Amino acid sequence: MGTLQLEVVTPDKTVVSCPVEMAVCPGVQGEFGVLPKHVSLLSALKIGGLRYKTDGKEEHVFISGGFADVNNDVLTVLAESAELAEDIDAARAMAAKERAEKRLTSHDEAVDMVRAEAALQRAVIRLHLAQVR
Ligand code: ATP
Repeated sequence: MGTLQLEVVTPDKTVVSCPVEMAVCPGVQGEFGVLPKHVSLLSALKIGGLRYKTDGKEEHVFISGGFADVNNDVLTVLAESAELAEDIDAARAMAAKERAEKRLTSHDEAVDMVRAEAALQRAVIRLHLAQVR
């Protein structure tokens, strides 16, 4: 069946670099799966979980949104931030969630609501992934 090389890259580091049997990405229009021999594709990603199978094991990675590129059996995911589910600090995500919720309910005109909403989403997805890992 062949393999697919998965590369998850942020400005700071490479988070994943390994051959996988399949991957499912959080596309802005919904999740999409990528198998070996997939056609070339470029898609925007939303804040969510990316999952992949390697050696029959399923792994989960947090993705802050970004882009996925599929070409010649290489799936490259570029994200502002990403981390393996096992590396998620749940207490930190909980603190980020509480901070964002306070901002969203503060009725303070100085609060950037779009930014606070995005921070809340990142925290909620991180907490979810910290549990399913
Ligand atoms: P915080 O307010 O806690 O920094 P954030 O959503 O603003 O959360 P990001 O900007 O998405 O954080 O990420 C900044 C860096 O910190 C990235 O390298 C990311 O992987 C890491 N990071 C953020 N939250 C967590 C977490 N809960 N567990 C592990 N790493 C995290």
